Amino acid sequence: MSNVRYKALELAISRPKRAIELPSNKVSDYFGSLTFNRAVMREYLSKEAYDRLISAIEKGEKIDRRIADQVATALKSWAISKGATHYTHWFHPLTGATAEKHDAFMHPSIDGKAIEEFSSNQLIQQEPDASSFPSGGIRNTFEARGYTAWDPSSTAFIMDDTLCIPTIFVSYTGEALDFKTPMLKALHALDKEAVAVCKYFDRNVSKVNATLGWEQEYFLVDTALYHARPDMALSGRSLFGHASAKDQQLSDHYFGTIPERVVDFMTEFEYEAHRLGIPVKTRHNEVAPSQFECAPVFEEVNVAVDHNQLVMHVMEKVAKRHNLTVLLHEKPYHGINGSGKHNNWSMQTNTGDNLLSPGKTPKSNLRFLTFLVNIIKAVDSYSDLLRMGVASASNDLRLGAHEAPPAIMSVFIGSQLTETLDAIEKGSARDAAVNGNNEGAAIDIPKIPEILLDNTDRNRTSPFAFTGNKFEFRAVGSSMNCARPMIILNLIVAEQLRQFKEEVDALIAKGLPIEDAVYKIIGKYIKESKRVCFEGNSYSEEWLEEAKKRGLSNIASTPDSVKTMLDERVIELFDKHNVLTEREMLARYEINLENYIKKLQIESRVMGDLATNHIIPTAIRYQNTLIENVKGLQEVLDNKTFVRLSNNQLLNIKEISEHISIIRTLVNDMIDVRKVANKLENITEMAESYKSTVLPFFDKIRYHVDKLEFLVDDELWPLPKYRELLFIK
Ligand code: ADP
Ligand code: MG
Repeated sequence: MSNVRYKALELAISRPKRAIELPSNKVSDYFGSLTFNRAVMREYLSKEAYDRLISAIEKGEKIDRRIADQVATALKSWAISKGATHYTHWFHPLTGATAEKHDAFMHPSIDGKAIEEFSSNQLIQQEPDASSFPSGGIRNTFEARGYTAWDPSSTAFIMDDTLCIPTIFVSYTGEALDFKTPMLKALHALDKEAVAVCKYFDRNVSKVNATLGWEQEYFLVDTALYHARPDMALSGRSLFGHASAKDQQLSDHYFGTIPERVVDFMTEFEYEAHRLGIPVKTRHNEVAPSQFECAPVFEEVNVAVDHNQLVMHVMEKVAKRHNLTVLLHEKPYHGINGSGKHNNWSMQTNTGDNLLSPGKTPKSNLRFLTFLVNIIKAVDSYSDLLRMGVASASNDLRLGAHEAPPAIMSVFIGSQLTETLDAIEKGSARDAAVNGNNEGAAIDIPKIPEILLDNTDRNRTSPFAFTGNKFEFRAVGSSMNCARPMIILNLIVAEQLRQFKEEVDALIAKGLPIEDAVYKIIGKYIKESKRVCFEGNSYSEEWLEEAKKRGLSNIASTPDSVKTMLDERVIELFDKHNVLTEREMLARYEINLENYIKKLQIESRVMGDLATNHIIPTAIRYQNTLIENVKGLQEVLDNKTFVRLSNNQLLNIKEISEHISIIRTLVNDMIDVRKVANKLENITEMAESYKSTVLPFFDKIRYHVDKLEFLVDDELWPLPKYRELLFIK
C-alpha cells in the first residue's frame, strides 16, 4: 500500500535548491521597470499629454479623448517594447481576488496580415462578460453587462506578457461591483473634509492624501504536502491536525534566521515585486513556524491597495517555482498564530506634512491633536462599522483567539498622549473659551515630547494603535483586500471631520477665535469618546469584562457583524458622502453573507468527505490489525497471561471504535443541519443557521479525528501532520 503522505514527505525533503541570479544587486537598476511610471510617461508622451495626465492623477481632473488617444498609443508602444502581446483591464471584483481578461494587441488587417492595435476606446472602457462575479442581485445575468473603466491614478504594469490597466468595475446601471470604486470615493471624501479642517491651521493645504503601509503575514508550506491535504487545497486551512509536540512555544522562529529555501523564494519574489514598482522593504520570520511577513514603504492608499493585491498574486506565483505554497488564510493551523495584514494608515498634505506627526510648534501640535482626537472619535462612533470592514468567515477564526486583537474595537495611544488628552479635557473644562468668554482665553497646549516620534512602548495587543506618526489597524485579515477596511476608515474619519468643522464653525460664528473653538471641541470629543481608549492588554479576559461595562460591542461573528450595513445611520453615512447607495450597500450585505455561507459549506463538505473517506477507513484498518493481534495473542498465550496482557490492547480497540462511531454520528448530524440550512430562502437566516448549527460541529468532529491521529499507526495516517507541514526543510 502506498501512503500519499510518505511520498509527499519524501519529495518535500529532497527539493533541489533554486537560487536566482539577480541582474544587479542594486534594486534601483530595475525598480519599476515593468510599470508605466512617470519617467516612461515623460519619454513616451508629449509635454502637454504628460502634464494633463499628471493633473488627472493628482487632482482627479478628467482626461479628454485626444489625450487618452496619446496615452493609449504610448502604452501600446511601451508595452510591446517590453515584450507584451496582450492587454487587460485589471480590477478588484467583490470576490476579494483580482480579475483580468486578456485581449491580444493583434488585429487582422485587410491585406491578410495583422497589426498591433490599442486605442483610447480600449484603454478607457471595456465590457467584460462578467456575469459570474458576485453582484448581490444588482445585475441580473440577463443584462450581464458590467463595465470596467480606467483608473489613471494607479500605474499600469506588465505581468508576464500582458499589459495590465487598473480599472474600476461598475454595472450597466452604474452601480459599483468592485472595491476600488467606493474606495476612490471614500478617499475623495476624506480629502475634501481633511483639507477643510487643515485650512484652520494652514491656508496652503489644498490636498490631503491618505497613506497606507500594509504588513502582509503569510505561511509557506511545501507544495507536495499541501496537495496531500485536501482540506488545505480546497479551503485554505487545515480542518484536522493534532498539535505538534513543538510549534511556537519556544518563540525560536520569530525574527530567527530565515530558512535558505525561503530566502531563495523571498529574493525572487522581491525582485518580481520591485520590477512592478512595489516598494517591498522588510522581510522577517513571524511568530509561528513557517510564518513570514513582508512590508513595503507606505504609499497613497489607492496605489498601496493595488500593490497589495498584486503582491499576494506575485507571491503565489513565485512560490510555485520553489515548490512552495503560500497560505494567505487567516488561520491555516489550529492552535498556533494566524495571519493578519496590519494596515498602517495616515494622512499627508500637499505641503508635505504628515497630519499624524506631532508638531514642534503649538499650532502644528494643535493640528496634530485635532486629527488624532477626531480619529478616536470616529472609531468610537462607528466601531461596529470598522469591525464590519474586517469581517469574514476566516477572520472570525482569528479575531479574539488570544493572538490577534479581539473583535472589540479600541484605540491605543500610549501613556504620554493619554496624559496630554487628559490635560486637555480638564483644561478645556475650565477654559475661558467654554464660557464663551474669549478674553484672555490662553491656549495652553500641553507639550508633546518629541520622543513620541520614536515611540517604543507599543502595545501589540490593540486592534487600532497609534504608533508614533500613524495608526496601525491590526484586525485586518491576511487574505483580505485592504480596500474593505480602507473604505470604512477613510469614510468614518471624513464624516467625523465634517462634523467637527460644523461644530467649530458654529463657535467661530459666535465670535470665538479659531484656536479656542478647536480646543473646545477637541475637549468635548475627548470626553465623549474616552471609553474607546484602552491602554492595557486587549487579549485579556479583564478587558472583555471592562469593555462590556464601557458599553463597547464585541461582535464575534460575520453574520452578526455585517448586519451593521443595514443600520439606517450607516446607510445614511455612505450615501451622504456618495460612497455607496442603499442599493449597493444591500448588494454588499448579501455578498458578504453569501461568501460566509459558501466558505462554511465548503469546509463542512470537505470535513465530511475527509472524515468518511480518509480518516474512518484508516482507523478501521489499524483497528483490524489490533484485533488480529489480540486474536494471535490468545492463540499463543495461556488464558491468564492473555487476560492480563490484552487488557490495554482491548481498551485501545474500544477507544478507537468509540471515536469512529462518534465521528460517524457527528458527520451525519452535520449533514442533516446543513441540508436544513441550505433550504432556507432568506440569506440572513441561512447565514445564521450555518453559524449556529453547522459551524459548532467543526470543533467536535476535529476533536475526535485529532485523537485518532494520535492513536493510529503513523505509517497508515494519510494526511501530512502538523510537525511535517510546519517545518520547511
Ligand atoms: P512594525 O509595525 O512591524 O514595527 P513599522 O511600524 O516600522 O513596522 O512600519 C510598518 C509599516 O508602516 C511600513 O509599511 C511603513 O511603510 C508604514 N508607515 C510608516 N509611516 C507611515 C505613514 N505615514 N502612513 C502609512 N504607513 C506608514
Ligand atoms: Mg505592525
